[in-house]
Amino acid sequence: MEQIRRTKVVDLLQLEDFGTTVNVKGWVRTRRGNKQVNFVALNDGSTIHNIQVVIDLGKFDEEFLKPITTGACINVNGTYVASQGKGQKGEILATAIEVFGTADPATYPLQKKGHSLEFLREIAHLRPRTNTFGAILRIRHHMAYGIHKYFNDKGFFYFHSPIITASDCEGAGSMFQATTLDLNNIPRDEFGEVNFKEDFFGKQANLTVSGQLEGELGAMSLGAIYTFGPTFRAENSNTPRHLAEFWMIEPEVAFNDVNDNMDLAEDFLKYLIAYALENCKDDIEFLNEMFDKELVERLNFVLNNDFVRLTYTEGVEILEKCGEKFEFPVYWGADLQSEHERFLVEKHFKRPVILTDYPKEIKSFYMKQNEDGKTVRGMDVLFPKIGEIIGGSERESDYDKLMKRVDELGMNVDPIWWYIESRKFGTAPHSGFGLGFERLILFVTVMANIRDVIPFPRTPNNVEF
Ligand code: ATP
Ligand code: MN
Repeated sequence: MEQIRRTKVVDLLQLEDFGTTVNVKGWVRTRRGNKQVNFVALNDGSTIHNIQVVIDLGKFDEEFLKPITTGACINVNGTYVASQGKGQKGEILATAIEVFGTADPATYPLQKKGHSLEFLREIAHLRPRTNTFGAILRIRHHMAYGIHKYFNDKGFFYFHSPIITASDCEGAGSMFQATTLDLNNIPRDEFGEVNFKEDFFGKQANLTVSGQLEGELGAMSLGAIYTFGPTFRAENSNTPRHLAEFWMIEPEVAFNDVNDNMDLAEDFLKYLIAYALENCKDDIEFLNEMFDKELVERLNFVLNNDFVRLTYTEGVEILEKCGEKFEFPVYWGADLQSEHERFLVEKHFKRPVILTDYPKEIKSFYMKQNEDGKTVRGMDVLFPKIGEIIGGSERESDYDKLMKRVDELGMNVDPIWWYIESRKFGTAPHSGFGLGFERLILFVTVMANIRDVIPFPRTPNNVEF
């Protein structure tokens, strides 16, 4: 077969030079036709759209064409011509075809019929070949790029917080341990406890649940940073919104108070939604068509409306008075559940909500304490269909107040002595938040289950692929 430079389908679909010879490589989505001519819909992942390859059966041997079935990978040379059919500009009249890889119709699971998302989860190694997952994964890429672009354009520095840490930011129990100890032969000390001195790091280590504590040190030196990396939580909550391994974006900014933090969160989310609408048009339109006809409308709505800002206390009052039956009780001091958050967003305000000033008991030790002695300057951004998409706060920058809180909670701060020192040496007001990347992708792709917005999800009892 003659060597011709490959053109990606996404570029072919823009091509106006009819009559040129092109090469295309991709996976067969469908093949149909009659005794004279066959039509192959070919997809190479570069776009949701397929290119049509027209095969004149007078020029190709029928036996040779047999392995060209759904899922097979082929290499095609041909003439790019204006298309007779509607819905496409051009198509390829094949002059030479090579079959790279066959896909036995008896065993290839992705035949033409639609498959449930549940079934596709069981074949996560193949689901990126479907329209739906192709769209989601391209959107995921563009959003990641958009996040870096947003921060870079605003002068934030990408700060690489560690994946393995010896600190526990959120409270024990939800962390994965990182160890090289032989679990069948655990070394013990004289008290019978695990002797971590013999472990790789000489002490107990974990996979990070958040890059925030290190991120704060970045902000206190570089001014404005963000992290964007994998985080791990061994929470045994089998929900459609939790993964054991997820990606988090955590900006942290020196001199920002909680209001600046809210402004940043709102601007950031709106930028990303606008970025998706602009850069993932075809894929979003596909999802809009297939899964939820209000998707584009909802994205535009978020873009064009201010987020409502109110305190936790005001939010709880609304929930107590609303007359709605909730599964979990609401009262001042309760940690709001997703059903409460979604009521405020979807039924009461009908737009995104930022709740602030939460009871200190339900928030982390590092949040700035308010004068009332009861609440802290936390802020959660709540989204339709998602609930909490961002959690953040102004941080407690006062050494004495931070230490008092740590003592109240009976925390052992030895592992985070370095964090505490940031309040001793040149402390300053600062704020930040964490955005769960997959929660954002859920919103933009209108998927209902977080397992469907990451290539290979990790959840309790599931580490396949
Ligand atoms: P939730 O109450 O929903 O469990 P959280 O309060 O534990 O969230 P934070 O610790 O504030 O969440 O983390 C910041 C953000 O990270 C959340 O707003 C959410 O978008 C995301 N997030 C938290 N836990 C998970 C998880 N297990 N899987 C995916 N995203 C998560
Ligand atoms: Mn959680």
